[in-house]
Amino acid sequence: MYGAGIGKGMLITLKHIFKQPITVQYPEQTRNVPPRARTNLLWFEERCTGCSTCAQSCPDGCILVQTSPREDGRLNIDRYEIDFRLCMYCGLCTEACPYEAIQVGGPYDDAVSVFDNMYRDKNVLTTMAQDYLAGHEHIYPNGRVAPQPGEHSHIDTLERPR
Ligand code: SF4
Ligand code: SF4
Repeated sequence: MYGAGIGKGMLITLKHIFKQPITVQYPEQTRNVPPRARTNLLWFEERCTGCSTCAQSCPDGCILVQTSPREDGRLNIDRYEIDFRLCMYCGLCTEACPYEAIQVGGPYDDAVSVFDNMYRDKNVLTTMAQDYLAGHEHIYPNGRVAPQPGEHSHIDTLERPR
């Protein structure tokens, strides 16, 4: 029948007029994002042994780990840096880390206007991690409880990953 297609289209339009929109008016409104969503990378120094497995697993070579030996056999982490200019947020580094010291999660609204600010050194990454924990009741994105600030927190004293 002539015009049936138009009628069908109008019906669909009418149906959608009364439905709640699935989009939100960002940035005025924000959505609850699951803590383990691949929004960013968070590095937790207290869990890190400096083994460099994350750096070796990164296909883009964006992680730099520089260590020096300690007398007790452990490693000092002199540098830990992530080049987010290259990172594709694949999460392979987080899967490779034996201690869940690098985890997916964290802010998704940290866009920069200076491209080089996406290169983040140990200090910036530590601030990111501490800000995250302070805003999430000291729970890591993986759901484990983080030590309180000032608490002795070397990996040996932390719950081992699954
Ligand atoms: S998320 Fe992927 S690209 Fe980014 S640092 Fe980790 S392994 Fe490299
Ligand atoms: S983040 Fe994990 S894999 Fe990378 S150096 Fe630290 S402990 Fe090793």
